[in-house]
Amino acid sequence: MMKDFSNLLRDSIQTIVDTWVEAVRQDQNIYHTNNLPRLAIENHIDHVLMAMATVLSQHQENQNQPIESASLEHGSLRAEQGFDAAEIAREYQSLRKVIFSTLEPELLQASALEVIRAVRLIDSVLDEAIAYCFQSYTEQRLAELEQLQHQLTLNNQELTRLVRGNQDKISFLAHELKTPLTSIIGYSDLFLRQQLQKTQVKDSYTNLEHIERVLTSGRKLLRLINDALEISRFDAGQMKLQPEPTGVCELINDVYEMLEPLASGKNLQMVIDCSRNPIQIVTDSLRLQQIVTNLVSNAIRYTESGTVKIRYETLDEDKWAIAVSDTGIGIEKEALARIFEPYFRVGSNKSYLPDSTGLGLAIVARLVKLLQGEIKVDSQIGIGSTFTVTLPLQLEFTT
Ligand code: ADP
Repeated sequence: MMKDFSNLLRDSIQTIVDTWVEAVRQDQNIYHTNNLPRLAIENHIDHVLMAMATVLSQHQENQNQPIESASLEHGSLRAEQGFDAAEIAREYQSLRKVIFSTLEPELLQASALEVIRAVRLIDSVLDEAIAYCFQSYTEQRLAELEQLQHQLTLNNQELTRLVRGNQDKISFLAHELKTPLTSIIGYSDLFLRQQLQKTQVKDSYTNLEHIERVLTSGRKLLRLINDALEISRFDAGQMKLQPEPTGVCELINDVYEMLEPLASGKNLQMVIDCSRNPIQIVTDSLRLQQIVTNLVSNAIRYTESGTVKIRYETLDEDKWAIAVSDTGIGIEKEALARIFEPYFRVGSNKSYLPDSTGLGLAIVARLVKLLQGEIKVDSQIGIGSTFTVTLPLQLEFTT
């Protein structure tokens, strides 16, 4: 009889996957699926189901090999996609519901004893799948934590030098940053050491939530510190240029590909307009890419509906320009003069975007200067903003 359920499950895999993808997409609490293509969501769940059917057909509870590898794969994929632990738990909850509702008509035809056995077996295999999935998920997260800790430690050393040197405007900031940074490094160190001692499985869920919190705030801090250090390096004249022949078209396409998911996640249209001859220029391509990325990501972040447009053209024999326009919230006149100052943000504390630092445009302004260009902005509240950067076709070598 159990064999029947196994075959039935195997025959229903496509239906279950389809229903499940829909359910997961609808679930507001699983927000990481919002920007994922269908294939990325369903990946490995069919393996998990196939493994489940195999385990069900074997009648023996100790043959869990197929479910182990399928679920381990699923866990590391989810870690890569940035899911948090609660989302994965909900995914499996939803999978359980979908499996039972799909099998329900057949289950209703079976005897009570058969139903109980089938339900128990499916439940235990699902539990097994969740446990393995969390195992690989945790391993991956810990590896990220280790990497983050390494970067933060390096940052901390640089901050220490700044504080000691006391010669820099940001040494005060460096001092402020050191306290949270030190505690994040301390906590992650504790987790990593605990993990080496293999703590109890039942603790791992709470542990995971702590790890995630550390990872999230650690990443945010890392970004803030890196941005602040970048500004201080610039102001100290330590930024070196690396001019090279650069294909503007490719560079902008790279930025487009990187940020398009962010735009389509908000239902924004993204347009590239390069009608006037694609250009080969000589510049520091990494720095140029940083400028464009910052402007386009701001345009997306500060726009609720409409279009983000990237337009570039040759102006004359020496200059070209790139303009990033949006149909977003716009910036009021009084603020326009200040948006390029470090830490300046429009509005009140409450209205800031969660990932806002007020450093993005300060960096852009410095980079544009470094690339011997100019930046200007036009904006109207409620209508949108356009940032235009004018740059030389050939960067002049100054050294
Ligand atoms: P962040 O966005 O991290 O706060 P930025 O330096 O990139 O820092 O931007 C400074 C401020 O300028 C933002 O807080 C926001 O108020 C405003 N701003 C930047 N870009 C735009 C835009 N495209 N539309 C509206 N406001 C913007």
